Order: sequence, then structure tokens, then C-alpha cells
Amino acid sequence: MKSLESELTKIIKGEVHSKKEYRDFYSVDASSYQIIPKLIVIAKNEKDVINTIKIANKFKTNVTVRGAGTGLVGSALNNGIILDMKNFDSIKIRKNYALVETGVVKGKLDKKLEKSKKFFPPNPSVGSFCSIGGMLGNNSSGSRSLKYGSMIDNVLEITFIDGNGKKIILPKDEKISKKIKRKIKIDQKKIPNVSKNSSGYRIDKIITTKDSHKIIVGSEGTLGIIVSAKLKIKNIPKRRILFVVEYGSIKSAISDCISINKTNPSAMEFVDKITLQQINHNFQKDTKCLLFVEYDEKINENEKQFKARISGKIVKKLTKKQDIFKWWKYRDSSLFYSLKSIKKESRIPHVIEDAAVPIEKLPVFFKILEKINKKFKTKSVIYGHIGNGNLHVRLIGKRNNLILVKNIAKQYFEEIIKMNGTITAEHGDGLARSEFIKKQYGKINYQTFEAIKKIFDPNDILNPGKIISKKSTVIKNFEKLEI
Ligand SMILES: Cc1cc2nc3c(=O)[nH]c(=O)nc-3n(C[C@H](O)[C@H](O)[C@H](O)COP(=O)(O)OP(=O)(O)OC[C@H]3O[C@@H](n4cnc5c(N)ncnc54)[C@H](O)[C@@H]3O)c2cc1C
Repeated sequence: MKSLESELTKIIKGEVHSKKEYRDFYSVDASSYQIIPKLIVIAKNEKDVINTIKIANKFKTNVTVRGAGTGLVGSALNNGIILDMKNFDSIKIRKNYALVETGVVKGKLDKKLEKSKKFFPPNPSVGSFCSIGGMLGNNSSGSRSLKYGSMIDNVLEITFIDGNGKKIILPKDEKISKKIKRKIKIDQKKIPNVSKNSSGYRIDKIITTKDSHKIIVGSEGTLGIIVSAKLKIKNIPKRRILFVVEYGSIKSAISDCISINKTNPSAMEFVDKITLQQINHNFQKDTKCLLFVEYDEKINENEKQFKARISGKIVKKLTKKQDIFKWWKYRDSSLFYSLKSIKKESRIPHVIEDAAVPIEKLPVFFKILEKINKKFKTKSVIYGHIGNGNLHVRLIGKRNNLILVKNIAKQYFEEIIKMNGTITAEHGDGLARSEFIKKQYGKINYQTFEAIKKIFDPNDILNPGKIISKKSTVIKNFEKLEI
């Protein structure tokens, strides 16, 4: 350990830390997990990243890159070196793209783009705080991904350092792009049939060698350390309109959602009673849930289409920027509201919280959740990106009954996979879901994942145990679970 530290300290231009307070800080993220790392490197430049990887290879330890640490499933936690990329913070805006370094936080990019009347579509509810590296690492998305897609659909080029310490630019590097394409063998039947997916490596998105950079998106720091990326940017729409609709039954909301989706809204989100109770508005007494539906083009035509399709009652029609912002804030606070409403000892750790199913399967999805709640004597808070079939579930039950958590995870994921859904649509696999990937994707696709990992990280030093996983980690390393 000492010689690892002294070797790093000699060569790294940034910072190297081994004190307890640093190791404690980097041992947690926004998940329920905790793993204490050996050392922290805060890289100053690309050379620091390369040197960290080379020294980790020499000492046979691992390197896990961290963005802002807002991940919900422990993806950025590990027991070797944690590499913080916050010093990589430059942004260059061009006509249709932005060149962004990995440590840039989303809020800073948004502000800079706004000055040029542009925006970057993926918008996680965590708002300003997550980093571009973390968003790429998890293939993050948000409410507007319904129309504009996830990170994987909004990136043109990625520069990264692989597990051998080699700098690679994809898809520019034709030799490596061809190698990736050659290695890909797909069992299409086992690829989730959903519009958003953050599980495994997205081999289904590599149609030609020009897509080779997409293998890095969603790879959770297991294939390379992203240094910078070329991101697609869009003009801010001239007008937006947001409808908030209340429903006396979840069934009617789902049925409307399936119909509204055909009108190409820019966002369609669902919240249940827990969130609506926190909103300063007089909803009807029997209101069970709300849909938030936004359009950002052909406003008049879309409004007509929308109104013709809904059975719920419109409680808000908003067109002013500040009103739309205020109501989206209510929706974005759902995780906070859910935590606030559940006593600590009843909060089951985030494990099954991010699945997505084909939208026509939503009625079955809700039935399965009911079945699980009945069987395991739990309750659930539900909200999320319903237009993508992606619902976040917070379970209420006995927090420290870990076997229960594992059994729920097994049964829930099995049902999601049966529906051709994904076990994670945006938050990634991390410690919670990596062991279920083989089941999700089947043997052929999983062998392709292993072959891809070998190309970039033959010694398995980059965030080991995530995505390619030999151990069960779903109920290990829960932080301070004893109450
Ligand atoms: C309240 C709340 C709401 C949220 N809402 C959403 C939402 O709506 N949509 C959504 O998608 N997510 C959401 N999240 C999850 C999380 O915020 C996002 O996944 C976010 O993009 C993670 O960014 P980060 O910088 O915090 O990454 P981290 O947590 O630091 O890292 C995430 C993963 O990316 C990898 N990584 C980080 N930097 C790099 C790099 N330079 N190169 C390669 N890999 C890298 C890490 O190793 C790790 O595997 C939410 C989280 C919270 C707490």
C-alpha cells in the first residue's frame, strides 16, 4: 500500500490522498452501499490518468473513476484507487455540438448553452449536479429522453484511456472500431425491447463502425476512463406547453399514456399519491396519480390531439417558462418526497428501482408490483418516465431484512426480463444489478460483453465486479444498515 502511494505521489501532478476522511468521503455515493477505497487520485491532466492506470496495473490493484457521486446503485464505489475527474472541466460550444470534458457538471453546461440558445437534451432529475462523465458512464437520461433519447443517442465522439493506459478516440480509430464490430455476436431475442436501457454493454447500438463509441456509453468505467466527449446540442424550442392531468385510477392513466405516446410528446411522466400530496394544489380527494405531458413543437395541433385522447382532468395548462419550471421541480423532487414520506427503518435500499418495460406491458407491470407487494408484505412508491415504460419504485418494508431484498430483486427482475424489459433503464447496473445481467442478456450476448471487456481491459483493473460480475453484490456492502 505504502509503495503504491509513494509511487503515485512521485508521478501524479494532481492530488493523491490516503487519509481516512478522503477514503470515507469516496466510500459512498447516493446509493445505500459503502466500500472503502485504498487511495484517491484527483487527476490534473490526461497524463495523470494514464500514469494511474499504469501504476495500478503494476501493483495489480483496481481503478474506479468517479464523477459527482450521485449514482444510485454504487457504480462508482470500489476497493482500489478512486479516480476523481473534477479538474477536467472545459467546455467549447460549436454550431451543432459541444466539446465537453468529463468532469463538467450538467448545470454548468446548461448555463453556457443557454447563452447560445442551445440545450443538451438528457436531463436527469438530479439536475445540475451530475457530471458528463457519470452521465456517459451510466447512459443517463431524463424526462425529455422520450423525444430526444438517452446519452447514447446524443454523443458523437468519445476520447478515453483504456485499461492498458492507451488513449483512444472512437469512432475515429478505425482499427479499434473494426475490432469491436468483429467481436459483436448478438442474440437479438435477448435484447430488451425498450426505448431506454442502461444494462450491460449496448452492443445492439453498434450498427456500423461509426457507432463504435457507443460501446463506452453505459459501461460504468469498466472499459475506459472518459476524458472528453463531443455532444450533440439542439436549439432551445421557441415554445413549450406542459399539461398536468389528474386521475382517479392508475389504470386510466396508463391507458391514456399509451394513447398520448402516439402524439410525440417531448416528455410524459407519472407520479403517485406520495408526490401529489406534496404539491401545493387542491387536487380532487380521490386523485390517485398525475401525468405530466409536455410538447415542444406544433403546440396548437398537439394540444388538440392530446385533449382528444385523455380521460383524466387537466389541472394545469402551463406555457410560461417559470411556471413550467416550477411544476417540473415538483416532479423532479419525487425521490426526495418518497424518502421524506418513508420512515428510515422502513426504507428498503434502492435495488429494483429503475426497470423499464415495453409501454404496452405497463398494465402487467403494475399487476406484478401488486403481486410482489402482497407476497413480501411491502408497499411501493412509484414515479418516473412512464412514456418510456420506465418507472422508479421505492419499496417500503423492513429495511434490514436483506434476504427479503434479494428475493424481491430476483423475482422482480425475472418478471421484467419475461416482459422483454430492462432491469435498469437509466441508473446502471452497479452493485445492485450486475449479477443479473447474464439472465437479462443470455449466454451469447454475455460472451460478447466478455470479449469486449478483454479488448479494453484485459487485466480487469477498471471498476471490477461491475457489468462483468462473478460475485453476488446485491445485498453486500450496505452502508450503516443497522438502525
Ligand atoms: C435525486 C436523484 C435523481 C436522479 N434522477 C436521475 C434521472 O432522472 N435520470 C438518470 O439517468 N439518473 C438519475 N439519477 C442517477 C444519477 O444522478 C445519474 O446516473 C448521473 O448521471 C450520475 O452522474 P455522476 O457524475 O454523479 O456519476 P457517478 O455516480 O460519479 O458515476 C456513475 C458511473 O459513471 C462512471 N463514470 C464517472 N465518470 C466517468 C468517466 N470519466 N469515464 C467513464 N466512466 C465514468 C462511474 O465509474 C460510475 O460507474 C438520479 C440520482 C439522484 C440522487
